[in-house]
Amino acid sequence: MQIRGLLLDIDNTITRWEEDHVPDSELSWLHAMSDASLQIRFISNGLDRKVRRVEAQTGLTHIAGRPLKPLPTGFRRGLEEMELEPQEALMVGDSAVTDIAIANRIGIWTVLVEPMSSVHFPGSKFWQVIERAFSLRFPATPEGEMRRQPPSRR
Ligand SMILES: [Mg+2]
Repeated sequence: MQIRGLLLDIDNTITRWEEDHVPDSELSWLHAMSDASLQIRFISNGLDRKVRRVEAQTGLTHIAGRPLKPLPTGFRRGLEEMELEPQEALMVGDSAVTDIAIANRIGIWTVLVEPMSSVHFPGSKFWQVIERAFSLRFPATPEGEMRRQPPSRR
């Protein structure tokens, strides 16, 4: 199995929800992924205006149309655009419900990251309640949940 493409959430995954700016650390990570010949598509339920700004800053593109996560349509469209099988793609996002659960069900690899900010789109609150109710923030790897901060800072 080889990962050949990334599907990336935007809000609270590569930018703070309340900011349009992609921080340098996330920009370098994106460039490293591109340099490793991975295809990259954003998949965000966020505002068009913000998506356009993030595209301009990164030189990367969002999938066509609105993904309407957690519906499977957007994930499938992303795979089609990159001409990949599900097992060749990795979805990275901060929401267990909208980014991870369905992508996983389709057969896409997933990484759940800690949200960059505690501020969320009001609609996300609904999904957070579901996450909490079903304890969906399970560890993403056997070693434990992937975190942005090194262990010493936890
Ligand atoms: Mg998000």
